[in-house]
Formats: sequence, C-alpha cells, structure tokens
Amino acid sequence: MSVGGGALAPYACDPARSRGRRHPEAPAPTRNDHQRDRDRIVHSTAFRRLVYKTQVFLNHEGDLFRTRLTHSLEVAQLGRSAARTLRLNEDLVEAIALAHDLGHTPFGHAGQDALAECMRAHGGFEHNLQSLRVVDRLEQRYPDFDGLNLTFETREGVLKHCSRRHADEIEAREPGGVARRFVDGTQPSLEAQLVNLADEIAYSAHDIDDGVRSGLLTLEQLDAAVPLVARFRAGAQAAHPALAGRRLLFETIRRMLSQQVYDLIDHSSARLREAAPADVDAARRAPPLIGFGEPMRTQIVELKRFLFQSLYRHPQVVAKTDAARRVVRELFDAYCDAPAEMPGDYADADDRVRAVADYIAGMTDRFALREHQRLTGRAVFSEA
Ligand code: MG
Repeated sequence: MSVGGGALAPYACDPARSRGRRHPEAPAPTRNDHQRDRDRIVHSTAFRRLVYKTQVFLNHEGDLFRTRLTHSLEVAQLGRSAARTLRLNEDLVEAIALAHDLGHTPFGHAGQDALAECMRAHGGFEHNLQSLRVVDRLEQRYPDFDGLNLTFETREGVLKHCSRRHADEIEAREPGGVARRFVDGTQPSLEAQLVNLADEIAYSAHDIDDGVRSGLLTLEQLDAAVPLVARFRAGAQAAHPALAGRRLLFETIRRMLSQQVYDLIDHSSARLREAAPADVDAARRAPPLIGFGEPMRTQIVELKRFLFQSLYRHPQVVAKTDAARRVVRELFDAYCDAPAEMPGDYADADDRVRAVADYIAGMTDRFALREHQRLTGRAVFSEA
C-alpha cells in the first residue's frame, strides 16, 4: 500500500466540477465548495446538539461513552485517512461524515423507532431522510434560503438510505437529484460509499469499547464469540505479553481498526484499478467499488451480529430504551394535543404533525426528558 495524497483521482468528486447548490451562490474566496459545506455543517445548530444525543448508551449514563458527536468525529477521522490514500476528496468525506447523523432523534435507535411508529400514518420518519431535511430545510441561518444550501455531492452522501416511496417523492420535487439512485439502482459517489463503511468501522469498534466500559460485555466474552476480536487480541498479547485490562482492550481495538481500514483501502484500490472508472459518473454507474475483502466482510458481519445480540439487546440496555421510547411517544401525543407548547415556528406550521416530528427529532436527550417532565409531570430516569 502506498501512502497517497496530492492530486485527486479521476473518479473522485472534484469540487471544481460540483453539480452545485440548489440556490446558486458566489464562490468563497478561500475555500472550495466542499470545504465550505463542511464549515456550514460544523456551525449548524443540529451539529452542536449531537453532543447530547445518545449513540448506544443514554447520554446521562456516563461522561465517557460515545455520543453522536464523538461518533461523527471518529467517522470523519477514519474516512479522511482512507480518502487521502485512495486519492478521493477528503473534504467531501469529512462533510458527509460530520452531517451523516444530524437527523437522529434523541435516545438513539429507540427514539427513532418510536418516532417512526408515531409517524406511520403521517408519512413516516426515516433518520437519513431527516438528516437531509435538516440540511435542506430545518436549519435557519441564512438570509436567502432555508437550510444550509449544501452541494449536491454532500446531500447525496447524507441521504444514505431512503425508502422507495420517499425516493419517488424527492424525485418528483427534484428530478434527477439526490434520490434518483434509489429509483435507478445506481451508487452514490465513492466518497459517500467510503463514509458508509467508515461509519460501520467506527461504531463496531467504539461499541466494543463502550460495552466493556459499561460492564455489560467482557473482553473474554468477545474473545470467545468473535473471531475478529480473538485474532487481534492474540496479536496484541503476542507482541506485549504483559498487557492486560483496559490497555489490552485498547490495543486489540486499535489493531482491529487499523486492519479494517487497510483491508478497505487494499480491496477498494484493487477494484478501482480493475474498473478504472473514467470519472465520477462512471463510478456511480459501476457496482460498489469501495468495500472490504470477503473474509473481512464476513468477520465484520459476525462482530455486528454479536453486538446486536449481546449489547444492543442486553436486558439493561433494553430496559432503558423501552423507557426512552415511552418518552418520545408521550411527547408526540402531548404536542399533537397542544401544539402551542412548541415554539412558534413549529406551532404555526402548515403540517402540524410533521412539525411535531421535526421538533422532537431535533431534541437532545436531556431536553426531551425536561420537556417530558414539564408536559406530563412525571420524571423518567430520575437518576439523570
Ligand atoms: Mg453513524
């Protein structure tokens, strides 16, 4: 593997050839368009709220667990370092990574599931779609338009998944736009593909760390059940026979993370060499070109399955997430019954139910708990 850098590959998204913004703007004097996107994301309100949003462990359970913000920073770090080696657009990767979770509700997946359930008869709720809604509409900072007016390439990466029904709706509003690929079955840019995998690498590694930190998992348990962990733990101990405890855990995770990134770079480089897409659109029409080799892919799937069963489904996690689901449902009912309890922009919106979903989705964990207590008179997670 060579250490990359320098000029962008022909199949990278070149900011000079961006498909542009929905509302045309003069170029910035010192930054290219994707750098400018990244800066707008970092300055957004939704980005600051990520610090108080749950990744797996509810935000108040401890100060050392990942939040959506630290998760997003880890995704950006992993994505950028791979992008540099593959000669992809590092700024675009960073922008997509920092924005990829902006639409997440409070309380992680439990909150998202609860809100999706509440919205079932009202057009549904999908967090990737909500991330796009945040950057396209809900941020209100600029005089001439709603949202952040990001480039096509950043918005394309933010809309990672989308149901066919919603894709058709977006396609009707924006023909040939960011939802077209869900209709015609093409891929997003290589930068967007890379962020999706950096997301996977980041969360499966940091959830091991947080799972052990919380006491819900042990390294011994992981070692026995997950070949990928066993391999790197054995390597760490062979190199450092005296290593134990948290340092052994960190060294195991560090080796596992590095190897996943190297595997991704090696296999993606080989696929790119073979397919040799002439430009960005040729890469979009090709099968996915960014990916792991088959043995690593299989082991990552095993790791994710273990985390699902043993951590995300752990009775102590489930007990908390059940309570979080109730908070979201009761907030939803309370605002639908009394919209005036929301700030004016939301209370006066034409589509009231969608405004309730937008308002709840934007909340941090702790704000949701305070609002829930104010509206119902009941405290949930009173240890908070
Ligand atoms: Mg993520």
